[in-house]
Amino acid sequence: MQKQKKRKTSATPGKRRSVTKNVSIPTSIPAVDTSLIGIPSFLTLSSPVQDQITTASFKQPPMILTFPPEVFINICKFLRPRDLVSLSAVCKVFAQYLISSSSTTTQQIWKEARTLHLRFLQMDPPEGMDERQYIKLSVERGCQFCGKPRIRKIYWAFRTRMCSDCFSAKTESEITIVKDMKLPQDVLLGLPSVQMHFYLSNSTVNYYWFSQVEAMHQQYKSIPQSQLPQWKTEMETRCTRLMQDVRQREVAEAKERLARSHDIAEIANQRKQYLRERIEEMAQEKNDEGNLRYVRSYIMSTDAFINASVAQRPMTNRAWKMLKRKIIQEHDARVEENSVSNSVKSY
Ligand SMILES: [Zn+2]
Repeated sequence: MQKQKKRKTSATPGKRRSVTKNVSIPTSIPAVDTSLIGIPSFLTLSSPVQDQITTASFKQPPMILTFPPEVFINICKFLRPRDLVSLSAVCKVFAQYLISSSSTTTQQIWKEARTLHLRFLQMDPPEGMDERQYIKLSVERGCQFCGKPRIRKIYWAFRTRMCSDCFSAKTESEITIVKDMKLPQDVLLGLPSVQMHFYLSNSTVNYYWFSQVEAMHQQYKSIPQSQLPQWKTEMETRCTRLMQDVRQREVAEAKERLARSHDIAEIANQRKQYLRERIEEMAQEKNDEGNLRYVRSYIMSTDAFINASVAQRPMTNRAWKMLKRKIIQEHDARVEENSVSNSVKSY
């Protein structure tokens, strides 16, 4: 039985922020002759807005809103991609500076942040995607459709980050498209797909973005019979190019995962080594009578030490000072407990 699904018709997934072009900017941004310094036109204030600014009364804006555009751009060059994403969501002024797809300056800001800080995102954006969309797709988390948090899975064939439920709702298998829906196999020739392997049945199935299938089907029906061979060749070439691009991105992603796991293991090892050295120092500490202050086995059996040993973040001297206080509290409580217990026994 054919699966019934409620679909959206848009072939371009994901939400986009819309920014009103002639926004009323609550500031007295100085008029700058931007043509002299190559500032794109979207960064300049149109005269109606300037008129609006001079006639309206506003509260004193934050200082950063009064920076000339070129100063703002220079600040952005030092920011990490995540900071740029956050900054572009702060207010309409920053959004105007950072969201324009057509501004080469804006694109350059994002590109510099990407190449400098995202070591495994060195490939240029996929066709039809600007630098900002590319970085947001890569660094943000959560399903782009239902908003489910902590979703990291990116389907490069569809240029989306989504959960398995949304994948199931928005894609269709090749078998269903061809056998159940009775669409011509040729419709799929030019479309990128995601290959899924099912271990139980030991089978591999290609999944297609369904709205793309529908659009391609419409196009297919409009091709005259005499032009079909040429169209099919063009579609095959297109698909080969797209899927090569997808594979390159998946390889880069796999390298990133591997490097991250090595980084985490390295951090964990450094932390364990640091803790070993500090515990050794602690175990050698003596009290005023010249006796050892702490019992090593007690130290190492405290909850504070055990929990700190398995954490996978770098250990700082400040963190150690706090940890040591907790260890001492637990250690002394156990000494006290044993002391009471021994005195009861002797009694
Ligand atoms: Zn979802």
